[in-house]
Amino acid sequence: MQPVTIVTGGSRGIGAATARRLAHAGHHIAIAYRRDHTAATDVVADIQATGRNAIAVQADTTDPDAVTHLFDTAATLGPLTGLVNNAGVTSPIGPITDLRAEDLRHVVDVNLIGYVLCAQQAARRLTRGGAIVNVSSAAATLGSPGEYVHYAAAKAATDTLTIGLAKELAPHGIRVNGVAPGIIRTDLHALSGAPDRADTAAGRIPLGRAGEPDEIATAIAWLLSPEASYATGTVLRVSGGL
Ligand code: NAP
Repeated sequence: MQPVTIVTGGSRGIGAATARRLAHAGHHIAIAYRRDHTAATDVVADIQATGRNAIAVQADTTDPDAVTHLFDTAATLGPLTGLVNNAGVTSPIGPITDLRAEDLRHVVDVNLIGYVLCAQQAARRLTRGGAIVNVSSAAATLGSPGEYVHYAAAKAATDTLTIGLAKELAPHGIRVNGVAPGIIRTDLHALSGAPDRADTAAGRIPLGRAGEPDEIATAIAWLLSPEASYATGTVLRVSGGL
């Protein structure tokens, strides 16, 4: 039986790279996206070209009904074996004194509430051998001063989700891990008002460059795979040394 995995935020960036990589590893894939239908259908076409089944579901992960719809639709691919909780957002870079309440709420909604809602559905549906990967951030331990401390705090909360859920689901044979990327070359930075961040930050990254989405996808794919059968409750940092 081939694995069936949901990747939230699978239309772009790290999520799209992960969906493509998992397809090459034999997974059927359901990706969730919020707005960019064309980007989502491009990823689905790439997956189908590998011979796997794929669907794109428009589902805002902050909406419980949409999350239920996402998981129900993914079930048409077969019994669920994995979840990649990846859909995340930042807000405009700046000091906390400039933070707008609506941006704070949105960041917490997507990066934390959305992760919990999806993890809850996964916990109800996964069976022995299933796995969840929560995409966190190196920000969770760096704190992102002057940039987005609220985002860093929300990501730290997802690390706690990883630890607690790993213990809760371990008796059921379900593993839960996190991946904490450093600065990765995606659209996320443009959306926070710093489109060149992957290049401008290179000087403070020990490996001297930003990461590529596929370098995160490999870590996620490993944690989902049976090769990681004894890894649970851990957060794998993939940050070029940051
Ligand atoms: P990205 O390129 O901006 O892509 C974000 C994805 O999430 C898109 O597919 C977007 O869909 C989707 N999305 C956003 N809000 C959503 C919602 N409410 N419901 C459903 N889908 C939603 O971001 P990325 O850089 O790949 O980031 C992926 C994850 O890695 C995030 O959790 C982020 O916090 C984390 N991360 C990124 C970096 C980095 O440097 N890039 C570093 C550390 C951690 P639409 O396009 O349809 O809106």
